[in-house]
Amino acid sequence: MTAHPTLTLSCEFFPPRTEQGSLKLRQTRQELEVLQPAFFSVTFGAGGTTQEKTIETVLDIQQNSRFEAAPHLSCIASTQEGIRQILKNYQTHHIKRIVALRGDAPSGWVGRLGDFAFASELVQFIRAETGDHFHIEVAAYPEFHPQARTTRADLDFFKQKVEAGANSAITQYFYNPDAYFRFLDSCAQKNITIPIVPGIMPINNYEQLVRFSDTCGAEIPRWLKLRLKDLEEDKTALQDFGLDVVTQLCDHLIRGGAPGLHFYTLNQAHAILEIAQRLGLLNPSSST
Ligand code: FAD
Repeated sequence: MTAHPTLTLSCEFFPPRTEQGSLKLRQTRQELEVLQPAFFSVTFGAGGTTQEKTIETVLDIQQNSRFEAAPHLSCIASTQEGIRQILKNYQTHHIKRIVALRGDAPSGWVGRLGDFAFASELVQFIRAETGDHFHIEVAAYPEFHPQARTTRADLDFFKQKVEAGANSAITQYFYNPDAYFRFLDSCAQKNITIPIVPGIMPINNYEQLVRFSDTCGAEIPRWLKLRLKDLEEDKTALQDFGLDVVTQLCDHLIRGGAPGLHFYTLNQAHAILEIAQRLGLLNPSSST
């Protein structure tokens, strides 16, 4: 249990490509165990490009940590049979939680790539194949998905994923808490009652953050972008400032009733531990 017993914390990793990366991730994961996370999740490269590495990393966590491992599973370039085999493998290894996603088609691609067009179809398929075995997480977008036709349609499609059987959701990262709280209000109006946990991206590197945000449609507010740009050459100052901003954001979210925090770790522990420490989320008595 964390020092904040009602808050669900979780951490996301990407599957390392090298032996050195695997060793480093093991260390990062061990350092983050002090958070007493509900789960550690592992991303799945678009089109299954990291499939083997994702499975390997998930099983490593499952076997060597006392915390749950949750694979991400994206479906856009997959066949039903391919997904069926992955689900069977996870069931065999007693994996109980999955983050179900559509993923992104290669740029310029038009039309279907495989048997699934949207995440709701994957959620439906997982439920049809495996019943209630998995706790299914899905993605949510408080600032709306970049391909959303309208905000209303995006919300309707989010509801479709929930009705297909999702148990909870993790949001894309954002730096404007109003977007999150308004999104929760809109969900409540649509009778969407699953927990929607905000995704938190620590700020370590200006260029990397701008690149990620351009791709995934997360907005960096103008004031924040300008301040970070000013600090771009001074890594320590930028990271200190980033810690202040993200800690305040988390504090605001927790005070406003967010059910948890999902940290996009980028396989680094330091910033997250510092944020958790500042928020009083580390319970020294439960760290081992
Ligand atoms: P969907 O829920 O299918 O939505 C995608 C778009 O389609 C939206 O614009 C939606 O409005 C629209 N839509 C949905 N249903 C319909 C319908 N029936 N008809 C018409 N339009 C519809 N990507 C990876 O490749 N690997 C990962 O591990 C990964 N992890 C992620 C984790 C989190 C927490 C988040 C927030 C994102 C992650 N992503 C990952 C990125 C994700 O795959 C992309 O954002 C992708 O573009 C959308 O995935 P989705 O599951 O939200 O899709």
